Amino acid sequence: MLVGILALQGDYFLHMQALDKLNVKHILVRDSKSLYKTDGLIIPGGESTVISKMIYRNNMNNDLIKYAKSNSIYGTCAGAIVMSSKINDYIVKPLKIINVQVMRNFWGRQIHSFSENIKLSFTKKYFNATFIRAPKFKILSNDLTILSNMENEPILIRNKKHLISSFHPEIGNDLSIHEYFVKMIDK
Ligand code: GLN
Repeated sequence: MLVGILALQGDYFLHMQALDKLNVKHILVRDSKSLYKTDGLIIPGGESTVISKMIYRNNMNNDLIKYAKSNSIYGTCAGAIVMSSKINDYIVKPLKIINVQVMRNFWGRQIHSFSENIKLSFTKKYFNATFIRAPKFKILSNDLTILSNMENEPILIRNKKHLISSFHPEIGNDLSIHEYFVKMIDK
């Protein structure tokens, strides 16, 4: 299995380290040619307006949509925003890979970053999740499953193939969510 990490902007390096620790082979993806070599893709957090612009500049938008029909994608924070179906501003163009509406920066500005022990539906232990200018998600269809909530808001969501989180699981040492995603690719 080969996992791609979209490396146009953002904290892709920490996802590389997480996959290294899990002994999962990975490559950095910056164009469609390398995208199609991979079995699954992580779109990291960062700045969604920049990631979105770069996707279009590198002509990857249609290929990402096509790729998502048969491959799993995990979007963390800005990555999730790019994968969503609707966004509360017009700067980011949603790829409509997962049916949620996004409100950017809902959990506060950069200086209000925080971490919280959250519960995940697929494991008993708590997960320490870091939120940095995190988005709020509104579920738009019933093909989605909520895997974690915080203050009654869904923060980790999946559909059949894809996963999104409003927080950054690559910060910290707990690899539970990366592990969960790698299993999704395998299915
Ligand atoms: N709020 C940022 C955005 O809209 C995302 C922040 C992040 O990825 N940590 O791009």
